[in-house]
Amino acid sequence: MISTRERLRIAVQKSGRLSQDSLGLLRRAGLAFRESRDKLFLYGENLPVDVLLVRDDDIPGLLVEGSCELGIVGRNVLDEQRLAAQGTPFPGELRALGFGQCRLALAVPDGGPIERIEDLAGLRIATSYPQLTANWLREQAIDAEVVVLNGSVEIAPRLGKAHAICDLVSSGATLAANQLHEIATVLRSEAVLVTSPHAPAAATSALIERFCARIGAALSGDGARLLMLQAPRSALDEIRRLLPTREQPSVLGLDGRPDDIALQALCDAQLDWQHLEELKRLGAHGLLVLNVERMLA
Ligand code: ATP
Ligand code: ZN
Repeated sequence: MISTRERLRIAVQKSGRLSQDSLGLLRRAGLAFRESRDKLFLYGENLPVDVLLVRDDDIPGLLVEGSCELGIVGRNVLDEQRLAAQGTPFPGELRALGFGQCRLALAVPDGGPIERIEDLAGLRIATSYPQLTANWLREQAIDAEVVVLNGSVEIAPRLGKAHAICDLVSSGATLAANQLHEIATVLRSEAVLVTSPHAPAAATSALIERFCARIGAALSGDGARLLMLQAPRSALDEIRRLLPTREQPSVLGLDGRPDDIALQALCDAQLDWQHLEELKRLGAHGLLVLNVERMLA
């Protein structure tokens, strides 16, 4: 299927754990939106890119059927549905987006007989991710039964429905509250940008590239800080060694002050108060730290 729309459509979770961060990222990539009356679309006002707001589970399917060219969805949903699609054309993961981190984990009742994954042989495992769970069990050569539950998976052991569960975990608080603990990680997940399995028309393709470059620029700015300062020239080597820089700092001379320099350095998120105090100790002054909004290589 070839997309002939002149606008790009990106599917995003309507309301849930990924919604805010997804829209936040699109805004940081420079997109401004106007909401449709039925709240199904956000129309791009400054780029021909519209957002379709849907349930996260529908996102891979919308790309397969050609209703959207791009989507933002959890890797857990994407990989589960890819396994179910059994080799038919399926959206690919373009890049990880750094939010919505969680893991699909095998968990068992505290103080029970299951201690290692081998103990699962012959037992029942409840999950909303039957494909990923069964696939992992096959890889581990463990013969266990997978029971599909679409909600409240964590209470299945107490209800006697299963001996163990395979569920999404982020902090682990829900597991602990249900007297469960993890014994294995099945999949590490986060929100990912996915593309349609169908070749786009040339015009759409150029737009996708432009859009992805913007997302890349917004992401590469994440956590980066621009540090500016003045310091004695004699302290320069030590300052260079101290800073968690991403690239060589720019060093400038100062008019009429041959013993001083001005320095500008792009640093990682690790740049903290301790670095600044150390810089002061080395004689730096006029320190300025700015969060970087976006970067173009
Ligand atoms: P929808 O109504 O869109 O179907 P949902 O209830 O299926 O929503 P959410 O609970 O909003 O989905 O989770 C969306 C995604 O957020 C998950 O698929 C997963 O990738 C990610 N996520 C991050 N942390 C967690 C967590 N602790 N539990 C569940 N999902 C998490
Ligand atoms: Zn869902």
